Amino acid sequence: MPGQSLGFIGLGRMGGPMVGRLLDAGHALTVFDTSEQTVAPLLARGATRAGSAAEVASAAEIVLASLPTPDIVHAVALGEQGVAQGSRAKILIDLSTTGPGVASRVAQGLAERGIQAVDAPVSGGVKGACEGTLAVMVSCPKPTFETALPIVQVFGKVFYVGDKPGLAQVVKLGNNILSAAAMVASAEALAMGVKAGVDPQVMLDVINAGSGRNSATQDKFPRSVLPGTFDFGFATGLLYKDVRLCVDEAEALGVPMVLGSLVRQMLAVTQAKFGANSDFTSIARVIEEWAGVEIRR
Ligand code: NAD
Repeated sequence: MPGQSLGFIGLGRMGGPMVGRLLDAGHALTVFDTSEQTVAPLLARGATRAGSAAEVASAAEIVLASLPTPDIVHAVALGEQGVAQGSRAKILIDLSTTGPGVASRVAQGLAERGIQAVDAPVSGGVKGACEGTLAVMVSCPKPTFETALPIVQVFGKVFYVGDKPGLAQVVKLGNNILSAAAMVASAEALAMGVKAGVDPQVMLDVINAGSGRNSATQDKFPRSVLPGTFDFGFATGLLYKDVRLCVDEAEALGVPMVLGSLVRQMLAVTQAKFGANSDFTSIARVIEEWAGVEIRR
């Protein structure tokens, strides 16, 4: 339903473009981010600035958030200047990847203040956020889902996962460990090819017409590794967080993740070498260094 008054907290790589899409859809937005440089471009497009998460939640009944880590989501939802302190908010739609533990704790804390939590992590990267082609996984009670659906539909394809906040997080963690594993395995295969003398573009073309194709060979390598730009738009530190949450959750459920644990260590190595703010496609740079080759056009 266009023309709603919404709040949005966290205007980073994903949140910024998502606010852009909500503005384009005709909604009025009150926004907050601790980093000033993320706010200015959205003010220029007609959004209104708030001074805290609580202020956002006093300006709008439906508040969305796209924040980096579980601790920050917890503080922004339930902390001193948090959403729970706002006077108007009835629904918080959290688009961040936090893991099921924090999603259910946040839902419980918000429920005590009469606010319903919508667990709504997304997949599809910055490009998907800009173009409205994200996969949006949602878990919350069905009536709340019906209210949230017209809003989150602006971001892409919406999947209802279940009625308990936290379930959508489990799906998201499963997706991201597969995405990270594909990145590691593809880097190993391509480094082998290059070292043997194969043109990496030819190798990618073959893989993408064959049974080895995956999101790294189809998108990440052509866009950010072969040109050597390493600028896909997702921080190593955030993917490491997702894989850690995934392996820990699997362990808590009694599901061994042998391969997942190796992927986790590859993220640990990438972060130690290139820093948490490096792009996660830097995984390929670690393997390039070990192999003594560069996977470039
Ligand atoms: P980002 O670091 O670019 O953006 C996060 C924003 O939150 C920043 O602008 C930061 O200033 C702001 N912020 C931090 N603490 C805050 C606080 N206390 N109050 C208000 N604002 C605060 O991260 P991102 O890449 O946009 O990712 C956001 C979430 O989406 C993460 O949970 C991530 O795992 C998930 N995600 C990212 C991608 C991707 O490709 N980038 C894809 C899918 C999901």
